[in-house]
Amino acid sequence: MITIDNKGYYGEFGGAFIPEMLHPNVEELRQLYLEIMDDETFKKEFQQLLRDYVGRPSPLYLAERLSAHYNASIYLKREDLNHTGAHKINNTIGQILLAQRLGKKRIIAETGAGQHGVATATVCALKGIKCIVYMGEVDIKRQAPNVARMKMLGAEVRPARSGSKTLKDATNEAIRDWINNPEDTHYIIGSVVGPHPYPDMVARFQSVISEEMLWQLLDQTGKEDPDIIIACVGGGSNAAGAYYHYLNREQVRLIAVEAAGLGVESGESAATSVLGSKGIIHGSRTLLMQTPDGQIIEPYSISAGLDYPGIGPLHAHLIKSGRAEPVSITDKEALASAYFVSQKEGIIPALETAHAFSALEKIKYNSTDVIVINLSGRGDKDLETYIKHYDKFH
Ligand SMILES: *Cc1c(COP(=O)(O)O)cnc(C)c1O
Repeated sequence: MITIDNKGYYGEFGGAFIPEMLHPNVEELRQLYLEIMDDETFKKEFQQLLRDYVGRPSPLYLAERLSAHYNASIYLKREDLNHTGAHKINNTIGQILLAQRLGKKRIIAETGAGQHGVATATVCALKGIKCIVYMGEVDIKRQAPNVARMKMLGAEVRPARSGSKTLKDATNEAIRDWINNPEDTHYIIGSVVGPHPYPDMVARFQSVISEEMLWQLLDQTGKEDPDIIIACVGGGSNAAGAYYHYLNREQVRLIAVEAAGLGVESGESAATSVLGSKGIIHGSRTLLMQTPDGQIIEPYSISAGLDYPGIGPLHAHLIKSGRAEPVSITDKEALASAYFVSQKEGIIPALETAHAFSALEKIKYNSTDVIVINLSGRGDKDLETYIKHYDKFH
C-alpha cells in the first residue's frame, strides 16, 4: 500500500525538516489542511473554479496517429488545455482558497521557468491578493515572456541573486521571506516538494487529473484502469496527479520520466532517481543530486521545468519500492519527440511533456495496451527553443 503517515513520510522519504522559525507556519498548515480541504463550501468553490475558470474536466483524447505509429492505444490527458496552459493551475487554485481560509493577506511563490509564477500570479489576481514571486536572476533573463505575464497580472517579481541564481536560490529566498512574515503570508509551493504537508497537499489538489481519468477511461474503453500511465517528473506534481487514484492498483504500470540532459553520465543531467542519493532538500528527506559531502550538484536539462536537483518524496518512494519505473530521456530525444508529436497530432507539447512522449521509445508494452500520457502543458513557452533546434531535426 502506498500511503503517507501522519508525520508526512512515504516509507523513509518525506517529513518536515525546517528551521525553528518556520515551525508555527508549517504546523498551522499541517493541522488544518485536511479539515479545510474536506469542508463542503471549500470543495464546492474549488470544483466550481476548476470547471468555470480552468476549463475542467480536461479531455482524454485518443491519439489515433500516435497509436497507429506505436501500435498501442495511446490516450492523452489534455492538461495543456487548462487556463494558463499547464497542470500547475489546479494546485494554485487550491492553495489560494486555502490561504484565504487561513486569513492570509499576502502570497509568495518561487518559480524557475516561470510557469508556477504565472499560475500563482493568475490566482492572486483572481482573488485580489498581493503576490510576490521569487525568481533567479538568470531565469528572469532566460524566461522574459513569463516575467512579462506575471507583471501584467499585477505580481511583483523579485530576483534571487545568490548561488547559481536559478530555482533553488529562488526557493531559498521565498523561505527566507516566509520566516520574516509568518503572520500574514502563505507560501504557495509549486510541486510535490517541501516540508510536510506540502507534498501531500499538492498531490491531493492535482489528483483531480486521475479522478477524471477513472470515468473518462471507463466511458471510452469500458474499464477504469489503463495498462500504463506515463508522466514527466520535475518535482513530480503532474505525475502525482496522474498516478494518485491508481497508486494502489498494482496492475497499472506507472512510468516516471526524468530529464537526462546531455546524458545520464555526462555531468550535465537532472536524472535524480539514477544519480541521486538520500538527503534533505527544501524541507524533506528525498533523493537528490549531491556530492559525497552533501553539496547540491547543479542539475541540467534543456527544459527549465525538469531542471531540479531533487524529486518529491512520493516519487523517491515509488521508485525505490519498485512501484514506479524510472526512464531517463535526453534533451535530444525530447526535442525529437516534440517535433514528432506536433506533426503527428497537431499538438505542440511543452518541453517537459516531450520527455514523457519519448518514453514510448524506451519501455516494453503490448499492442493491446491502453497507455495514458499526461500531457502536462503546451509548448508555446518553448517555441524559441524548438525553432532554434528545428533544422537539426529536419
Ligand atoms: C512545471 C512543469 C512540469 C514539472 O513539474 P512537476 O511538478 O514535476 O509536474 C512539467 N510539465 C509542465 C508543462 C510544467 O509546467
